[in-house]
Amino acid sequence: MVSYNQSVNPAPAIELLVIGGGPAGFFAALTLAEARPRSSIVILEKASTVLGKVRISGGGRCNVTHACFDPAILTRFYPRGGRELRGVFARFQPADTIRWFESHGVLLKTEEDGRVFPVSNSSETIISCLTGEAARQGIEVHTHTRVKSLERTPEGTFVATCHDGTLWHTRRVILATGGEGGFHLAAGLGHTIQPPVPSLFTFKIHDPRFEGLQGISIPAVRLWLPTANIHSEGALLITHWGLSGPAVLRLSAWGARVLHQHNYQLALTIHWLPGLSEDGVMAHLKNQRSHHGRKRVTAWCPFEAIAQRLWQKLVLSAEIPETTTWSTLTRQQIVRLAQELTAGRYEIAGKAPFKDEFVTCGGVTLDEVDFRTLESRLVPGLFLAGEVLDIDGLTGGFNLQNAWSTGWVAGRAIAGKT
Ligand SMILES: Cc1cc2nc3c(=O)[nH]c(=O)nc-3n(C[C@H](O)[C@H](O)[C@H](O)COP(=O)(O)OP(=O)(O)OC[C@H]3O[C@@H](n4cnc5c(N)ncnc54)[C@H](O)[C@@H]3O)c2cc1C
Repeated sequence: MVSYNQSVNPAPAIELLVIGGGPAGFFAALTLAEARPRSSIVILEKASTVLGKVRISGGGRCNVTHACFDPAILTRFYPRGGRELRGVFARFQPADTIRWFESHGVLLKTEEDGRVFPVSNSSETIISCLTGEAARQGIEVHTHTRVKSLERTPEGTFVATCHDGTLWHTRRVILATGGEGGFHLAAGLGHTIQPPVPSLFTFKIHDPRFEGLQGISIPAVRLWLPTANIHSEGALLITHWGLSGPAVLRLSAWGARVLHQHNYQLALTIHWLPGLSEDGVMAHLKNQRSHHGRKRVTAWCPFEAIAQRLWQKLVLSAEIPETTTWSTLTRQQIVRLAQELTAGRYEIAGKAPFKDEFVTCGGVTLDEVDFRTLESRLVPGLFLAGEVLDIDGLTGGFNLQNAWSTGWVAGRAIAGKT
C-alpha cells in the first residue's frame, strides 16, 4: 500500500483523512469504503490502539446500541442533540446498526431492558469486526499519531500536521476525536465549542439515612433537583458512597451542566413512592392505624417497594421515636413521614464515577453543522461525527448509536460528493 504521509514534499491529497480511530471515525471510513471501494482513506489515532473506548464499553461487553426502532422516541434519550439527530436516525438507526453488524458476521442479542450486546459478551468481537473490515477495504490506520493542527488551504483542501511534524494532505476530513482531545482542531477552523463537562456519573451523598444500607435497591423512585427543576425516574441503588442506578444516571445526564456549575453540590429530593401523591401516601399511612395499631411504626413498613431497613431510617428521620406504635402516631408525625417519603431532602456532596459508561456533555455547537450531511456549515469539506459534537445520550447504547449514525451519514455524504 502507498503511504501518502510526507514531511518534506507536498503529497497527493488523499480522499478522506479521519482524525480519531474511535467508533465514529471507523464507521465513517467503512461507510465511504463500502459505498466507493478503492477510495484512499487514512485514519490517524493518537493512542497506541484504536477503538479504546469500545474496548472498555459496557463493562467490556460493549453495549452496541438500544432496541428502540422509532427515531422520534429514540431522540428522547439524548439530553443534548436529540432534535438534530431526528433526521440522522431516519436514515441510520439501531435496526440498521444491528443489520450492519450481523451482515458483517457479528451476532447480537437484546437484553430485557433493550440493551444490545454481542452474543460473545465481548467488546473484542466488535473491535475485530471493525478493524478486520478496515483492513479488507484497504483503509490505512496509523496509531501513535496525534494531529496537532488542521488548516484549510486557499484551494479548499486540508493539511493536517501531526505531533512529529508529519503532514497529511487531504480533500476531506472527518473530525471524530470524541469528547476529549480534538476540540482545538475544530476551534482552530472557526467552530464554537460548548465547554466539555462530564455526564453519566453517580452521586456522593453522606447522609445518616443511608448508613449501613449499601446494596439496597428500590425499583422506582423520582428524583428532583429543585435548583434546576430537573426530574428523573427509575431504579435507585444505595452504594457505600451515596446513590447510583438508572434514576441517578439519568439525572446526571439531564443535569450535567447545572451540576457542574454548582461544583456537584446541590440539594436533591427523593420521592420513594412515585406512584402516589403526598395525599395518597398520607391516606395509606392513616389506614395503618386501624389495621396495625399495636405494631411499632419502625417495625411495620406498609409499602412493598421500600426495604424494611430503609423504612426504619426514614421513620426515625421524620422524628418518630423507635417505640411509637401506629395507633399512637399523631397527625403531625404522619405529615412529617409523608413528606419524608415523597420529598426527602439530601445534599449531593460530589460526583463519583460510573464504570460501565461515561460520556462528555459539550463539543462543537450543533447549529454550525448541517445534519443532512454532517458537514460543517463554516468549513466546506470538514465533517464531524460522534462525541466531538455537542451530543450525548443516556446510558444504554445510545452514545455508540450516535457514533454509528453520524459516522454513517458523514461517510455517505462524502461518497456522494466525490
Ligand atoms: C468506560 C466507558 C464505557 C462506555 N460504554 C458504552 C456503552 O456500552 N455503550 C455506549 O453506547 N456508549 C458507551 N460509552 C460511550 C462511547 O464509548 C462513546 O460515546 C463513543 O466511544 C464515542 O465515539 P467517538 O468515535 O465519537 O469517540 P471516541 O471513542 O472517544 O474516539 C475518538 C478517538 O480519537 C482519538 N483522538 C482524539 N484526539 C486526537 C487527535 N488530536 N489526533 C488523533 N487522534 C485523536 C482518541 O484517542 C480516540 O481514540 C462508554 C464510554 C466509556 C468511557
